[in-house]
Amino acid sequence: NLTLVWLRRDLRLSDNRALVAAAERGAVVPVFVLDELFEQMGAAPKLRMMLSLQALAQDLEARGLRLILRRGPARGALEELVAATGANAVYWSRGYAPDVVARDSEIKTALKDRGLAAQSFTGTLLFEPWTVETQQGAPFRVYSPFWRAVRTRSVAPCLDVPELHGPTQWPASDSLETWHLDREMRRGAAVVSRFVAAGEQAAQRRLAVFLEERIEGYKAERDFLDRAATSELSDALSYGEISPAQMWHAGQRAMQEGAAGAEHFLKEVVWREFAWHLMWFFPTIAEGNWREAWDAFEWIEDADHPHFQAWCQGRTGVALVDAAMRELYVTGKMHNRARMLTASYLTKHLNIHWKLGLKWFEDCLVDWDPASNAMGWQWVAGSGPDAAPYFRIFNPDTQAEKFDADGRYRKQWLSHAPEMGSDTAALFFAAMPLSWQAQFEQPQREAIVSLATGRQRALAAYEAFKA
Ligand code: FAD
Repeated sequence: NLTLVWLRRDLRLSDNRALVAAAERGAVVPVFVLDELFEQMGAAPKLRMMLSLQALAQDLEARGLRLILRRGPARGALEELVAATGANAVYWSRGYAPDVVARDSEIKTALKDRGLAAQSFTGTLLFEPWTVETQQGAPFRVYSPFWRAVRTRSVAPCLDVPELHGPTQWPASDSLETWHLDREMRRGAAVVSRFVAAGEQAAQRRLAVFLEERIEGYKAERDFLDRAATSELSDALSYGEISPAQMWHAGQRAMQEGAAGAEHFLKEVVWREFAWHLMWFFPTIAEGNWREAWDAFEWIEDADHPHFQAWCQGRTGVALVDAAMRELYVTGKMHNRARMLTASYLTKHLNIHWKLGLKWFEDCLVDWDPASNAMGWQWVAGSGPDAAPYFRIFNPDTQAEKFDADGRYRKQWLSHAPEMGSDTAALFFAAMPLSWQAQFEQPQREAIVSLATGRQRALAAYEAFKA
């Protein structure tokens, strides 16, 4: 028997049910197909995926296997590989985004019609969405009852890396370098790559550091912008270098050992799960307002609007917002609290549609995850199923006093004057495209929209909308 293991957002060897099931049958050919769904991702997610594929190829090579790369429609690529290798089965870890579901079900039918065993496995979520429902048999729309419904559920134990062997003859493969997945990084891939540690082993090391040094204080410290208090595993999770089950079991063990922050960590892992369940049941959540009434709200939808450009470029004149937007641009990541308050400033103070913000994050985030991004944006904007009420408007100054009291975070990203000696702030200027530079010649001394004016305008617009 020979099985193609079609790897997608499960770029790991441990706790990979599709890989284990394939290894139990016989020889394994690991395959990654750069199809249209991956091609259309933003620049930073593509770069991050490239780094992840490099690491996976090395891990496979160390075990005497190869990662076979193909570009083009997934169905054609898999069918060709079936013919080239004589494989009689194709296995993969299930995906849940609507375009992925549509592609996979078409491929499953086509492969089965050819007499192949085509099977998908749980691997990117803890619980299958259709197994978690309210007592009335409906999907959960609010996080807290969702958490209560899953907190004591059992999650299957994690699996070790199986004994693997490949075919006697390997099929041809593209070379990753020729795909140029880093080409679209306007900010220079080298800058963002510095902040990324890709691959399964790096993810396991981050988890170990988190359990050793951070989980105890996680609940108390996680909101502080200038502290390394969280797991920093979201990008690894996004490409499946680590499985959510590995994080879940690690969190459960820590809880049993009495780590104070463990339950809170599990709750955050379940936020991601909740986002994916929402996307499964409400597949258009990334495309439009979940609450349709919000379609009538008059947000600005012009991506060329100078206020939107200023927000993207971290020059709104609101220090905390600008620091966070520059952090995003340079590192491909942003602290969760900073995501909430930059999203709030965009949608409330600047009255710009959350969809524009979502798209910018989609291009910049190395941990881009369609479900968490959509849920996060609709939560802040007030249009989502589980949403902060619109009138909850973050005040970046108050947030700065609470979570960046001595200004370290803002200084790290804004103080580019050499005498202030901050490398990271300088990186932003080194990385930005030429077309932005003229905008920075005059320092932005005042906020483009002041916190008081923006808040009043937002509340007045909301009152009028409700009326
Ligand atoms: P930790 O605090 O260590 O949490 C552990 C894990 O739990 C994370 O790795 C993540 O998988 C999950 N998690 C934590 N908080 C959330 C949350 N609020 N929503 C969903 N999952 C969560 N997260 C993404 O992974 N990709 C995105 O594209 C994304 N876009 C966002 C957009 C907005 C507007 C907002 C407000 C949040 C977004 N988040 C997104 C959620 C969150 O900001 C990140 O998951 C978190 O900052 C990652 O850091 P960490 O791994 O150190 O998290």
